Amino acid sequence: MSDAEDPRKQAADTEDPQARAEREALALAADAGIHRLAIPTPFMVGRVNAYLIEDSPLTLVDSGPNSAKALDELEQALAGHGHAVEDIELLVITHQHMDHFGLASILARRSGAEVAALDRLAPFLASYGHQTDLEDRFAERLMLRHGIPPEIVTALRAVSAGFRAWGSAVEVTRPLADGSALELRDRTLRVLHRPGHSPSDTVFVDESRAMMLAADHLIAHISSNPLLARPLDADEEYSEPRPQALITYMESLEKTRAMELSLVLPGHGRPITDHAALVDERFRMHARRAEKMLRLIASGPRTAHEIAQEMWGNVAVTQAYLTLSEVLGHVDLLLRDGAVVEEEREGVVRFRAA
Ligand SMILES: [Zn+2]
Repeated sequence: MSDAEDPRKQAADTEDPQARAEREALALAADAGIHRLAIPTPFMVGRVNAYLIEDSPLTLVDSGPNSAKALDELEQALAGHGHAVEDIELLVITHQHMDHFGLASILARRSGAEVAALDRLAPFLASYGHQTDLEDRFAERLMLRHGIPPEIVTALRAVSAGFRAWGSAVEVTRPLADGSALELRDRTLRVLHRPGHSPSDTVFVDESRAMMLAADHLIAHISSNPLLARPLDADEEYSEPRPQALITYMESLEKTRAMELSLVLPGHGRPITDHAALVDERFRMHARRAEKMLRLIASGPRTAHEIAQEMWGNVAVTQAYLTLSEVLGHVDLLLRDGAVVEEEREGVVRFRAA
């Protein structure tokens, strides 16, 4: 049979190049004993990637959110690799977002697994309910200060409260220092704090294989939004100076760009084989977005919320905190470069061209 007649060959020939690249990258990860388990979430981002590492201890990186549907699909995905929840010996948490760690407490209780996470993240995970209260209050102060009307702030508070149950407090039994090594039988994972998308983003690098488990630090199909969040060690009433999430994120991306990596396994979507090019693309996008905001600000002083409305229309209302984070991140770049200045009147901040 010639190649043209071989149905398998034809299937490969007609496969979309991106689908083929994804299949090949996942096969490369599987050769290293790492399997992507895509778990459903109720969030706009869609599925979250947990990664099963077949090593000793049997390791799961991230858990998916705290829901029966996520647990059911996780169990099926584990079964597909011949494992059950009870077999998990080590659970690794990449960062503080509930789509990534929500099921961790249930999985830890059922399996008796150790729970590993960045040491500075452990207090947040242990007191998750209280931390989300503090986070909500911080967000409210920030939104009012940047011109979001009180009725929108109140509506968003209800939305946030409704989402809370997708997370659940979990005790970290194995705190990991930034720069330390997490030793498994067949590999060593370097623990690296890469804040920006959240204050606790942690990536795990298998240096001998040049593979990175990146969670939401770098995602191929969407730019990871640097959400404004309370610093991990902030006082309860903290609000100022506001965190510079985008600047922090870009510093973290620079460090990752400088690494030799053959494969980056992200927290959502497909594996990344060209991380340096992707980082460069993100830097260009952020520069363009900052320039666009500078043009708006140059035509007259504006609050961050007004800028968000001009950039994204009604999304600036329904996703007010997300878009506020986007605007403030880029305005921080303009403030740093001396292109704009910040002025406050009656508790509300406006930005104007310098
Ligand atoms: Zn995240």
